[in-house]
Amino acid sequence: MKANRTRIISALVVIFLIIIGFIYTSSTGVTPHEEFHVHAAFQQFIGDERQSYANEQFMHVEPCTLDDHHNDSAKTPDEKAHLHDLNGEVVHVHDETATWNDFFTGLGVTLPENAIGYINGVEDNNFLDAPIENYDRLLIVDENTTDIDGKIYNLPSVEDIRSVENASESCGN
Ligand SMILES: [Zn+2]
Ligand SMILES: [Zn+2]
Repeated sequence: MKANRTRIISALVVIFLIIIGFIYTSSTGVTPHEEFHVHAAFQQFIGDERQSYANEQFMHVEPCTLDDHHNDSAKTPDEKAHLHDLNGEVVHVHDETATWNDFFTGLGVTLPENAIGYINGVEDNNFLDAPIENYDRLLIVDENTTDIDGKIYNLPSVEDIRSVENASESCGN
C-alpha cells in the first residue's frame, strides 16, 4: 500500500511539473512562426545626385498580415523587403533570406551597371547578393560620385533606423 501511494504521488508530481512547463513555454511567447522583421537603410547617388525613393510608387501598401505562415518560400521579392510610410531610406525586411537584389527587384528598379555599393562603409562588389542584415547601411554610388566618406557619414544612422522601427507602421507588426 505504501509503495503504491508513493508511486501515485510521484506520478502527480510529474504531471504537475509538465503542466508548469507547458504554462511557462506558452507564456514566453516563443512560436516557431514568429515574424521576421528587421530594418536597414540605404541611399543611392548617380554622380552626386541623390535618387529619391520617397514616393507612393515605391511604397508597400499591402498589409503584411497577408504573409502566409505555411508557405514562406513563396514570398515575392517585394514581400521580403520593402519601403513603408513614404520613407524612401529605411528598408523593412520581412524575410531572413532577403537580399538587396530582392529589395530593388521588388521596387521595380534596375540599378545602373556601374553601381558601386558600400555596406557599413565597406566596398562590396557583390552588394546586391548580400543578405540585408539588421541596421545595415548601404550607400550606392558610381565612378563619378565624389566625397564617398561624407556620403557614408550622412546615411541614416542606426538611431534613425531605430526610430522608424519603433514608430507604428502600416505593416502592423
Ligand atoms: Zn518595419
Ligand atoms: Zn512591411
